[in-house]
Amino acid sequence: MKMKETPQELRVRKRMLPGAITLHGFIGNDKRSLSTIIAADEQELEKLGYTAEDIADRMQYFTDASFSTFDGSIIIDNCYKLETDVVRGKLPCPYAHGGLYRKAITKLTNLENNESVSWTSLNIHLIKDHHFFEGKGSLFRLEPTVLVKALF
Ligand SMILES: [Zn+2]
Repeated sequence: MKMKETPQELRVRKRMLPGAITLHGFIGNDKRSLSTIIAADEQELEKLGYTAEDIADRMQYFTDASFSTFDGSIIIDNCYKLETDVVRGKLPCPYAHGGLYRKAITKLTNLENNESVSWTSLNIHLIKDHHFFEGKGSLFRLEPTVLVKALF
């Protein structure tokens, strides 16, 4: 069943297109509505036994731990290699909440299984507050299964 998009959703989706807030946007080649994308990822997470908050809190923990290492890499808890890619500037949330999020990219590699993920502060916010992991094919799309393997 296709869910109809509300005017609010359509406005948000427009801000997620390439060139609006970021060069590549947040949707990729995903044709599904935002609520459909979000519902599918919530279902996936539930199967994996984690909540969006669990994931976001874990990402925040690593971002905080690695942020002082500017341009270097650091091993945390003997298992996670963190690198910070310093990109100057801040990004607004496409849901137009007024908050600004650092563009710097945190890259994590799980040294036990070699699974690796990259994110910005905006990704953490989008996951925590909107349960949005970006559309399929988006540059910063974060697959729940990959996140769970990498982060825990
Ligand atoms: Zn927001």
